[in-house]
Amino acid sequence: MKPLALIVEDEPPLVEVIRYNLEKDGFRTAIASDGEEALIALAEETPDVVVLDWMLPKLSGLEVCRRIRRGAATRRLPVVMVTARGEESDRVHCLESGADDYLTKPFSPKELIARVRAILRRSRPALSEERLEYGDVVMDLAAHRVSRAGSAVKLGPTEFRLLRTLMEKPRRVFSREQLLDQVWGRDLDVEPRTVDVHVLRLRKALNRIGEADVIRTVRGAGYAIDVEPG
Ligand code: CA
Repeated sequence: MKPLALIVEDEPPLVEVIRYNLEKDGFRTAIASDGEEALIALAEETPDVVVLDWMLPKLSGLEVCRRIRRGAATRRLPVVMVTARGEESDRVHCLESGADDYLTKPFSPKELIARVRAILRRSRPALSEERLEYGDVVMDLAAHRVSRAGSAVKLGPTEFRLLRTLMEKPRRVFSREQLLDQVWGRDLDVEPRTVDVHVLRLRKALNRIGEADVIRTVRGAGYAIDVEPG
């Protein structure tokens, strides 16, 4: 699936320029025109990156960014702040609020795309790749194929997305809520237990006789892709 960029900007012409260029570069986009709308959009579907204007009605970009950093599901979300200000102290404010990078208006679309791509590479290197590997598990994202030790593994679409999420950040423990959010999307009424059911299916498909269980269950915390010792 294409990565989702949330554009938070109150000037319609600028929204159009940003949206057009991100979509041309392979992103899906969501748009919010003030700080409150941004929070609602973030609660609906966690994007892969946020392009966030500083000066916004209702809630400033700085405040939105602080809230992004405080939210459990959005803590690591890459944020590029866009600002009309260029003072050194403002840049410091920007980065202190938790933004990963900032752009000063006016900026060229090329520069925006370059910054967005750069922070995505830093925060989610897997997004810019077509192939994920962990141990002997290989995911070919373009062809939608999975193999283990060279032989094909058949996965349903949910298990595929689940494995992809885990493989994008090997050894990181994902809580059930984070997995629900990333794999199912938050608008669906799915219970945390559903995650367990699909992890079980994924395990069955991946771990054939004699092969190590690559999925680690962390009691009270969640799941990670990780080869268990022994
Ligand atoms: Ca503005």
